Amino acid sequence: AVPNIEIRNLSVCFETAQGPACAVNGLSTTFRAGRISGVIGESGSGKSVMGMSLLRLLPNTAKVTGECFFGAQELLTLPLRELRKLRGASIGLIPQNPNASLDPVMKIKKQITEAITTHGRLGKRAAEAEAAELLRQFGFDQPQSILGQYSFQMSGGMNQRLVSALGLACRPGWVIADEPTKGLDAVLRNQVYTVLRQIYTQHHSSMIVITHDLHLARQLCDDIRVLYMGQLIEQDTAGEVMERPRHPYTAGLIHSLPSRGMTPIPAPDPARLSHRGCPFYPRCSKAMERCGREAPGDFELPDGGKVRCFLYA
Ligand code: SF4
Ligand code: MG
Repeated sequence: AVPNIEIRNLSVCFETAQGPACAVNGLSTTFRAGRISGVIGESGSGKSVMGMSLLRLLPNTAKVTGECFFGAQELLTLPLRELRKLRGASIGLIPQNPNASLDPVMKIKKQITEAITTHGRLGKRAAEAEAAELLRQFGFDQPQSILGQYSFQMSGGMNQRLVSALGLACRPGWVIADEPTKGLDAVLRNQVYTVLRQIYTQHHSSMIVITHDLHLARQLCDDIRVLYMGQLIEQDTAGEVMERPRHPYTAGLIHSLPSRGMTPIPAPDPARLSHRGCPFYPRCSKAMERCGREAPGDFELPDGGKVRCFLYA
């Protein structure tokens, strides 16, 4: 059976001129197999860094501590040789920056068929047919002509869908998708949503979908985790998070959607910046005196969700 992915007390820090800066800050959570879990938050909230640390794809300058279990295997300390066997085959990645992950001097066909044949699931012929089918699913009407080209001949939106196809090529049990709809128009966004749903239904793939596309998160995901400054501040079913957000930051994110009033989250109040309490304190309209002194822990909600805010203490 496909195992859960369990993160325990993960921190990822980088050394900067101003001292260490932590993109992920003591994060613990379990992504359950058989579900599509969304991770949302503004850019810089630590979503991608969390995803990349699972596959150890961060630059060497990142200081990573904590544990990430894939079943019984601890991903952060697994010998690289073992980790490479998992990458792609057991945990597929749809990376955020398509141009960095496509090979500019290798035809699309070779890249996708090699990904399919690497772990020995199919021979070359069958792999070529499957590559074409995968591209068709992702909205390419003429997959044969696309397969004969290079990534630099494609638009950004095409390459975004190509890396998605590439990430799913080995039919991994788990897929980590980092902003799979970034830069796509509404029609193509919808297409990506449909394919991910199909893949999930047909191959029972479990997924971690990192996105700031809240509509995608709502449509696609079973549950949603909200990150703010490297901390997990809210976690619940997708319906609860989108319809009844509890954390003031989550509520702010949702109310900033064009369809929900487009009210921006306030900028930090400079008078509140030097504090030791809740990370959202400088921007929070619901802040209480206590919030500037003390950091809240996780409070369980009656429906099984969790929120890191004193309003629910
Ligand atoms: Fe706002 Fe206080 Fe809740 Fe933090 S703990 S989100 S400052 S109300
Ligand atoms: Mg990101």
